[in-house]
Amino acid sequence: MQKPNIYLDIDGVILANEDYLSIGAEEFIKYAVENFDVYWLTTHCTESDATHAINYVMRAGNESLRPHLERLIPTSWVEHKTEAIDFSKPFLWFDDDCYLGERRDLEKNNAFNSWVEVDLRNYPDQLQREIKLLEGFVE
Ligand SMILES: [Mg+2]
Repeated sequence: MQKPNIYLDIDGVILANEDYLSIGAEEFIKYAVENFDVYWLTTHCTESDATHAINYVMRAGNESLRPHLERLIPTSWVEHKTEAIDFSKPFLWFDDDCYLGERRDLEKNNAFNSWVEVDLRNYPDQLQREIKLLEGFVE
């Protein structure tokens, strides 16, 4: 099984709110960057510069998280996050939102199931549990 690329949103995924990481976020990020190619896919990184994204997350994280965040690959997109997704490779996109144009792009590429809907309101420890999903791709 080919390892998927990982695309990661910030608000509602890594961050439960502006001040707190979600449960398991640090562990999830560390496991992801150690085992996968992980890309930012967030409004905090739209022009291939992750500086703001990292600083934004670091307001809630402790310093030990920074080197792991620095391993995420920045992306560039304008209107839809799906512009930054490489559809020629398998991927998992962790996001709490998927807007109409993005849904359309996913469906067009037969990849709707690659969106992992994160719903921290109902499942506050979801990210912690998603580590199991990632583990399934790692030998
Ligand atoms: Mg979000």
